[in-house]
Amino acid sequence: MHFDPAEALSRDQLNALQAERLRATVERAMKSPFYGKLYREHGITPDTIKTVDDVRKLPLTTKQDLRDNYPYGLLAAGQDAMVRMHASSGTTGTPTAIFYTDEDLHTWASLMARCMHMIGIRRSDVFQNMSGYGLFTGGLGIHYGAEHLGCLTIPAGAGNSKRQLKLLKDFNVTAVHIIPSYALYFASFLEKEGIDPKSLPLRRALIGAEPHTEEVRKRIEEIFDIKAYNSYGLSEMNGPGVAFECPEQNGMHLWEDSYILEVIDPASLEPVEDGQVGELVLTTIRRDGMPIVRYRTRDLTRILPGECPCGRVHRRIDRIQGRTDDMLILKGVNIYPMQVEQVLMSMPEVGSNYLIVLESDGDMDQMCIRVEINDDIFVEDMRVLGALQTRIAKRMKNEILITPRVELVQHGSLPHSEGKAERVQDMRTRKS
Ligand code: ADP
Ligand code: ZN
Repeated sequence: MHFDPAEALSRDQLNALQAERLRATVERAMKSPFYGKLYREHGITPDTIKTVDDVRKLPLTTKQDLRDNYPYGLLAAGQDAMVRMHASSGTTGTPTAIFYTDEDLHTWASLMARCMHMIGIRRSDVFQNMSGYGLFTGGLGIHYGAEHLGCLTIPAGAGNSKRQLKLLKDFNVTAVHIIPSYALYFASFLEKEGIDPKSLPLRRALIGAEPHTEEVRKRIEEIFDIKAYNSYGLSEMNGPGVAFECPEQNGMHLWEDSYILEVIDPASLEPVEDGQVGELVLTTIRRDGMPIVRYRTRDLTRILPGECPCGRVHRRIDRIQGRTDDMLILKGVNIYPMQVEQVLMSMPEVGSNYLIVLESDGDMDQMCIRVEINDDIFVEDMRVLGALQTRIAKRMKNEILITPRVELVQHGSLPHSEGKAERVQDMRTRKS
């Protein structure tokens, strides 16, 4: 049983719906100062759109466009029609502001409820949202989705692990939303408190908002004895609820009745083949207040070819590998932090946190990886620790082609964040 009839649409129905909604989106977007001018300059009108593929006739929108037209330049209606504002968390610079009409908020909540229903959450569940509220969309966005679904919803917010634990226990919480790096931190907090994470009534978690590997998901599932589902979104596209894993846990269905999905080569800007990694480009086709057309997300992923056994035809994207601007260039080699995480988290001796530090050593750039290791290993003698260090460095070399310096540090000694984790510290004097 689907939560939303849109989940059961056929490919043909989706294509027709997308074409119709894209045409309406262009018409709507032209009411905004930004798209109005841009489309007039390019001779674009709603008639430009006959089929979904005509989306490629429209210019791309970048984060810089949003910044240049901050704050109200993309509004397709007067500011008095808007009822909510959010902002991106500013991970990569000046934040951007996003505005929603009442109808947009309703659409967003129903999308989010659809995601949660898909993984078996029901109104009988007690849901705790353990992510930051405020401007971050993972707070209110997920909150209203859970309420729309009918769950008893606890707006716990981020951090304060002691209180999180009390809420989880007192109210028999069965489902949570939690940022993956905080989930691992929270697990070690429970360990310190002498509480077995498996003893909590928890059954399901939505994890997302930051890149994480399959290894991290597995750890979270094992530690808490729950199912954890990848949740993807970005404030420019409302927030969470854009793409979400189904029970198959093999890629995230991107809701194509609400967004148009493209994956392009970030250099040539041409579409890549299904299955090839590129930059995700998204268009809102169900947003009135602030339509955004062909937005370059800077997130790297690929379309998973083939049909999903769950029967939903909304295409699936692979987990996000990182952002185009996350890429580290070291000694001429391109490295993504998630490659480092994948190696580390597949090793049982490695604890829940790590930090990549880039340093200048004379004319050469060096990578140092600080790795928290589990307490039982930390008490071992130098030979055991030395061997572990060498093993990590060798495995890294196989994966990222350079040999990093590896520092083993005690559990809990690296800085941890309650929001998105910062995995890289760049201390280089001269950045490549
Ligand atoms: P910011 O760009 O400032 O971080 P947002 O709070 O809007 O602003 O975050 C959206 C970004 O977070 C996405 O573009 C993506 O890079 C990352 N993100 C969100 N969900 C996931 C996920 N499930 N996996 C990987 N990255 C994610
Ligand atoms: Zn599926």
